[in-house]
Amino acid sequence: MGADSPTMRGVCEGVLYRFLALKLQRFHFEIKSLDTFFLGYTAPMAKTLFEKMAILSDSAKYDVSCSSSGSDQKGASLGKSHASGICHSFSADGRCISLLKVLMTNACIYECAYCINRASNAIPRAAFTPRELADITIDFYKRNYIEGLFLSSGIVKSENHTMGLLLQTLEILRFEYGFGGYIHVKLIPGCDTELIEKVVALASRVSSNIELPSSHSLALLAPNKTKEKVMQPLRAARDISLHKTSAPIPMSTQLIVGATPESDFDILRLSSALYEKALLKRVYYSAYIPINDNALLPSTLTAPPLLREHRLYQADWLLRFYGFRAEELVDEATRKLDVDLDPKTFWALRHLEHFPVEINTAPKEVLVRIPGIGVRGALKILQARKFRALDHAMLSRLGVSLKRANYFITCKGVYQKEVPLREDHIRRALLGPKKLLQPSLFDWYQGMVGGEV
Ligand code: SF4
Repeated sequence: MGADSPTMRGVCEGVLYRFLALKLQRFHFEIKSLDTFFLGYTAPMAKTLFEKMAILSDSAKYDVSCSSSGSDQKGASLGKSHASGICHSFSADGRCISLLKVLMTNACIYECAYCINRASNAIPRAAFTPRELADITIDFYKRNYIEGLFLSSGIVKSENHTMGLLLQTLEILRFEYGFGGYIHVKLIPGCDTELIEKVVALASRVSSNIELPSSHSLALLAPNKTKEKVMQPLRAARDISLHKTSAPIPMSTQLIVGATPESDFDILRLSSALYEKALLKRVYYSAYIPINDNALLPSTLTAPPLLREHRLYQADWLLRFYGFRAEELVDEATRKLDVDLDPKTFWALRHLEHFPVEINTAPKEVLVRIPGIGVRGALKILQARKFRALDHAMLSRLGVSLKRANYFITCKGVYQKEVPLREDHIRRALLGPKKLLQPSLFDWYQGMVGGEV
């Protein structure tokens, strides 16, 4: 889509949704009585597909655990993706839009304090039937509007009933239409393992949102959830995957940041454990957007902590690809990342005993720990120094960014900066007089794509 700027993304998103809306108005699906599906839910429901799509795609935007990057849907005739993965883009508020990202329903029997869809909120409600959703997905796919589906739902009637509706949609798409494309399905905490097994067999990716990073916060704000309950679908999917001969299904989760008092230390330790034990592919961090008035939550006037979310994504990247441990990145005493500095620089300044690093002799795992030098930069250095010893000018010519690295390296024994190797001096030199501002929702995305942190 080439939508690199927020403005461009906004325009693209607007055009896409307008286009989808116009097409929807032309469809004439038989709309069955919703009561047969959502027995017991009495609030007025949207009736037309247009209304439903408007409500249910909007309700889905609070879920960020939907990246489709790296998926490789081979062997299907319809929906086959390339090895580079299903391409994706991001809407103006940072959410993925290449998938049809939608809820089955935004009706819910539960009352999670932080959630827009909680039972007591007076919001417009809507629900698709599995048939409607499958038909729309295929129609949009064939018209090249979307490349796959991200499907989640509020909980209606019961966990099993809701999981059954999502499974039905999946089965229509896979068996009836032979759709082999990307489908990400949200597992419903508390549903039977038998249902999870069927979903895992058919989905491309599954996720289950842990949302709040501690049992204490769950008990306060989501009384129907416990740590065991929210972890249950992830554990079940992991165990099912481990017993299969094929590759394990990729799994992800979402943690809300800033709604409750858990520190970055708590959050990163939880993420680290999830990567190790639950075999998650990704943990997504979602800056809390205050929607509901609740004395236990930040006021509705509080800005979402986007800069904190951005730093957590950077730290997460270091956990997954740079060999850092959570305890290295966050000081147990301060328990939070430095919002002014990226997590690697924050770590380096607290561990100056490891610096300066000599570029011409350091192994790869040391090179990638130098602030400003990522995996690609380290590989370039390793390749180039096979032929000659490198100096600062050569590093620049190789495209290695020295803006931060210069304070932490020597080349042929030369430390180029006139700043003493001391935390306060380097910090001042790096930050200067300018105070870092809260980034836009898209700033973090650039860092994630580049991966150079
Ligand atoms: S169960 Fe899910 S949809 Fe329902 S209120 Fe809680 S977070 Fe919202």
